[in-house]
Amino acid sequence: MNTTNLSVEIDGDGVALVVWDMPDRSMNVFTAEVMDEIDGIVDALVADGKVTGAVFTSGKTGSFTGGADLKMLSGMFAAFEAKKRDNPDEAIKALFEGVGRMSWLWRKIETCGKPFVAAINGTCMGGGFELALACHARVVSDTAAMGLPEIKVGIFPGAGGTQRVARMTGTQEALQLLLQGTTLSPDKALKMKLVDAVVPAGELVDKAKALLKAGLSPVKPWDEKGFKLPSGPVYSPAGAQVWPAVASLYRKETADNYPAARAVVKCVYEGLLLPMDAALRVEQRYFTQVIQTTEARMMIRSLFVSMQALNKGARRPANVPPTKLRCVGIVGAGFMGAGIGYVAAKSGLDVVLLDRDQAAADKGRQHSQTLAEGLVAKGRMTQEEARALLGRITATPDYAALSACDLVVEAVFEDREVKNAVTKQVAAVLKEGAIYASNTSTIPITSLAETVPDKARFIGIHFFSPVDRMMLTEVILGKETGDEALAVALDFVRAIKKTPIVVNDTRGFFANRCFLRYISEAYDMLVEGVPAAMIENAAKFAGMPVGPLALNDETAVDLSHKIMKATMRDLGKDAVDPRHFALVERLVNEGRLGRKAGKGFYDYPEKPAKKHLWVGLKDLFPQKKPEEVDFAELKSRFLVTMALEAARTVAEGVVTDPREADVGSILGFGYAPHTGGTLSYIDGMGLRRFVALCDRLADKHGEHFRPIPLLREMAERDETFYGRFGAREEARAA
Ligand code: NAD
Repeated sequence: MNTTNLSVEIDGDGVALVVWDMPDRSMNVFTAEVMDEIDGIVDALVADGKVTGAVFTSGKTGSFTGGADLKMLSGMFAAFEAKKRDNPDEAIKALFEGVGRMSWLWRKIETCGKPFVAAINGTCMGGGFELALACHARVVSDTAAMGLPEIKVGIFPGAGGTQRVARMTGTQEALQLLLQGTTLSPDKALKMKLVDAVVPAGELVDKAKALLKAGLSPVKPWDEKGFKLPSGPVYSPAGAQVWPAVASLYRKETADNYPAARAVVKCVYEGLLLPMDAALRVEQRYFTQVIQTTEARMMIRSLFVSMQALNKGARRPANVPPTKLRCVGIVGAGFMGAGIGYVAAKSGLDVVLLDRDQAAADKGRQHSQTLAEGLVAKGRMTQEEARALLGRITATPDYAALSACDLVVEAVFEDREVKNAVTKQVAAVLKEGAIYASNTSTIPITSLAETVPDKARFIGIHFFSPVDRMMLTEVILGKETGDEALAVALDFVRAIKKTPIVVNDTRGFFANRCFLRYISEAYDMLVEGVPAAMIENAAKFAGMPVGPLALNDETAVDLSHKIMKATMRDLGKDAVDPRHFALVERLVNEGRLGRKAGKGFYDYPEKPAKKHLWVGLKDLFPQKKPEEVDFAELKSRFLVTMALEAARTVAEGVVTDPREADVGSILGFGYAPHTGGTLSYIDGMGLRRFVALCDRLADKHGEHFRPIPLLREMAERDETFYGRFGAREEARAA
């Protein structure tokens, strides 16, 4: 019964132990071959009269499976697209059958007549957890982690997940799990009744076999007569409590931007009215629809395929052998430096945290202590780990301590003179071969590199705040930055588990350039008299996680003021819209500096009261009536202005790989994830439509919307960003 990827061993009691252990992979993943093998094994076990039941587990230490290979799904979709032109009926039928393959295989296990127990020995995600849910019981190791994360990449659990979770746990909890894609701890899964027992890893298989020997039923509760849903039927007083709230929560959380989320709600609602087989068909139909949406395709590409490639070092120069960083120096232990020190120490690196005096350096180290204590209090870090983390950070004002560092990241004040002075001091002590990096947000890397003896060893590593939570890091190449500096920077980013994008030197690099467009468009709207609440809501309905005015308060209004002044100083007065400058200056003069001042575009009263938009905003500009404002157009303006800026960075050669613009925009400034990112938004809409939309907006709202020549050319040739710029980059990375 053994196959390439699975082995079967039957014990004296007739219990089969099926161990999934793919020989050529570090983690098990569902492929067409694996599913065929499972299918064959189930048939054989059912046919074998000696077999009384089976335990399904993984042979990989610490992991059951990461889920399905999404490339398989993309392949299925590509085949569908190819076939659709000649025979649309056949194509859709094949797609429907293809996406249902896993679901019906799991259903076959569920109804095969012999009991199966899933023994989950570690990470168990997506299709793997759905397989476990189809088994007749689940035993998990106390270190396991389970979840159905599909929603995060624009699809949903389509192998029975929506139906089984909603039949095993309360409707509200089930929907929360399916719509958020959260990872469950063993205890949480037990509480939700999604698993039956939690045991130490070493006892997993014995416990699973014990359940079988105790006479586990091979019939699921929902296949028995009289099955009752945990939250009661949909049409019942209990259901009447839940469902209206679900509808409004769904709108609030998703702004109806995610076809997959909409499908989850429909699957659960419709599925719970039906017997299991019919419910699975409903799920299969919605899955077939969702997989065809632009949102699913773009999200899978950016948030799964591209993100994985970037994390694995798609842009790392192949000619530099892997480096093993041990010690990192951070100069400037302020807001950013302290955060960078924390993430570095947390991932096991030794950190020298340097500031002007011991007190300032200690304050930076204290930040790590506060964060580590927070994790200990939440049970997400042990006391010992916290102590070890802090033990790795040396806080000092002494430059000599940097002599052992492989990389030094400078994060002092945003002032060229201060930075240059610091870099010179670093250069005096740094060991040969070490790399210098600057966390500057605005100063060109090429010019900062002037201060070091070897410009090839200087690079920008731009973090986002708060450093411990933001997953993006922008790596900036100065004109003379060498391959080794890039390799070390990328190895560092990988070590601290962030996602890097590599961009060429320019004012604002990539993320801040696009992000400033977001804020600038909101200023335009305020000046036009659009009510502030409509501005904030339009942005959120467009898919942005935080409204532009709230975000401006977080990053500080006086920082915007400073950036505007610096821009005018460097590029001339016309580089900033005078109405924007007047608006920001007025807020700054009134002490409305943002959240840190307790007032900005919003007022921040004492808790528990909630922040609310400053009423005085209404008096700054003559207000339009809500019915005079085109709300849909506001949404487009936000997404288009940022996408246009991303296109400009490509035209200028700042961004050279569309994957980086997409991933960078979602992780860096929360660009509406359902679009797949700034360039996928344009590609998804089609260049012609995008150019026409830009022209329309430019005629109405200003020349900053006018499409750049590159876009017109691409529209004429019917090109996409991935078609024109992607292939070349992928070829280079290969
Ligand atoms: P900060 O004022 O909080 O910290 C700067 C630190 O540098 C202070 O602790 C200061 O004592 C120290 N310092 C100043 N001169 C020094 C010297 N000569 N020697 C040693 N230490 C010195 O500033 P920040 O917000 O952490 O910003 C630091 C850098 O990071 C800036 O270049 C900024 O543009 C960049 N940055 C900031 C953000 C952000 O959101 N704040 C985001 C990305 C990048």
